[in-house]
Amino acid sequence: MPASLSHKPYRVGRSRTGLGLFATKPIKKGTKIIRYFGPLLDSKKKDEDAIENKYLFELTNRWTIDGSIRENVARYINHACRPNAESDVKPRKRKVFIRAIKDIEPGDEINYDYGTDYFKAYLKPIGCKCDACEKKRKKKRAEARAERLRLKEKAERKAKREAEKVAEKRARQRKAGAKKVAKANGKLGNGKTLNGKHLNGHNLTAAAGKRATPSKRGAARVLQA
Ligand SMILES: [Zn+2]
Repeated sequence: MPASLSHKPYRVGRSRTGLGLFATKPIKKGTKIIRYFGPLLDSKKKDEDAIENKYLFELTNRWTIDGSIRENVARYINHACRPNAESDVKPRKRKVFIRAIKDIEPGDEINYDYGTDYFKAYLKPIGCKCDACEKKRKKKRAEARAERLRLKEKAERKAKREAEKVAEKRARQRKAGAKKVAKANGKLGNGKTLNGKHLNGHNLTAAAGKRATPSKRGAARVLQA
């Protein structure tokens, strides 16, 4: 870094999106950090109104700063949706300063919000890479992962339940099959049991006798008479 720049509280460095401006000293909230400057373009002049680049800073309907010149170090400052600095616009003076809106620590990247128009035109199509948006994306990815895991575990639990049901059904069928076999064996192999029942006349008589007893009907007839 050249000696003439060393008193400045920032330096240009590598950032997530390419180059960025980083604090080299603590910068207190409210401090003017750097001026955003360049030739003033007059929208009333056709050739000036036709200039198009990513570093245009609109001051008023008429005046725009063309910040694309090399000397404008502030052009390295990247956009952030939750920035630590802001652009302080003085339309009458036709000047813009970047001012800290938070205490900034050495090593922190300096950011300001470029505004809705820039965001829509340049950042939304490629996806904003600022910390806040990266964090949001990370959170969304983590949530999607958790949801996939939840669904997978649910499916596994369901499959396990189904498998258990099938196993239980088979076990029941096996038991029933074994009983049938045992019964069949009993009928074929143990005639005495079968005959014993048939020969038990008492049981049959008792059942028939019960059914034939006209106790209630008899009582009704008595009342009618
Ligand atoms: Zn963002």
